[in-house]
Amino acid sequence: MSYVFVVDATRQPLPPVHPARARRLLSRGKAAVLLRYPFTIVLKREVRAPAVVPLRLKIDPGARTSGLALVNDATGDVVWAAELLHRGSRITKRLEERRAVRRKRRARFTRYRKARFHNRPRRKDMLPPSLESRVQNLLTWVARLSRLTPITHLSVELVRFDLQGMQKPEMQGVEYQQGTLWGYEVREYLLEKWQRSCAYCGARDRPLQVEHIQPRARGGTDRISNLALACERCNTAKGTQEINAFLADKPDVLARVLSVQHRERNTRDQRLSCRQARCPGPRTLPDTNATQGGGGGECDALASL
Ligand SMILES: [Zn+2]
Repeated sequence: MSYVFVVDATRQPLPPVHPARARRLLSRGKAAVLLRYPFTIVLKREVRAPAVVPLRLKIDPGARTSGLALVNDATGDVVWAAELLHRGSRITKRLEERRAVRRKRRARFTRYRKARFHNRPRRKDMLPPSLESRVQNLLTWVARLSRLTPITHLSVELVRFDLQGMQKPEMQGVEYQQGTLWGYEVREYLLEKWQRSCAYCGARDRPLQVEHIQPRARGGTDRISNLALACERCNTAKGTQEINAFLADKPDVLARVLSVQHRERNTRDQRLSCRQARCPGPRTLPDTNATQGGGGGECDALASL
């Protein structure tokens, strides 16, 4: 349940209140609705020395959605939470549409004019528009929330840095997407999972190939749970057969392969339920990075606004 944000008559943010209390304040005429979303009421009087509640805004940045949660550090209660839907793919689509329109127009009016899409200087630190929008969405919401509620701390779940981009900034296109580690992590993981042996004959110490348990030709995906390791002989022998057909006369091997395949699903489920059960959860930055907002020093995100 989300608490209700409260500001006083001078728009000073106050600690959020329980919806029941907000309802009482509204029905007694002591407050009015300021914003519908996020629901915020404004008191009709000024509050001289508001109570101090240590509120931490936790951010979990994601590609499609980012999670926001306002947590009371003293009690551990989630005061307010929201999911921020980013519009990255829509931006890309619109830019591509614009590009197509411009190209068509160029062809229509000046048939032999060269394409001019690539002749503008680009700032080194420029982010692609779809990513820029993600960053700005978050900054907007941090700023908006800090106007409505006294946020004292800020935590951001750590995400991976673009090390490849730092080391080799000139890398572009497919090369960038695949990167120097392309397929490496998957292979390392599979070697661990299948204990460096062929999933079907158990052969070790020979080149192993990445194999699709449900063949691609039969709609199998590249998901890691559909991948196994096989020696060349087994891989060729299996071809595009279903796993059940290929191992029809080896039920024990079939059972083992399926159990290893399932083992990963289980660990993933455990991890998920672990998150839900509120154990350590997202790593938070130490207080050097998540400094006081509002009062004294502000964190970078807040300071740059
Ligand atoms: Zn084999």
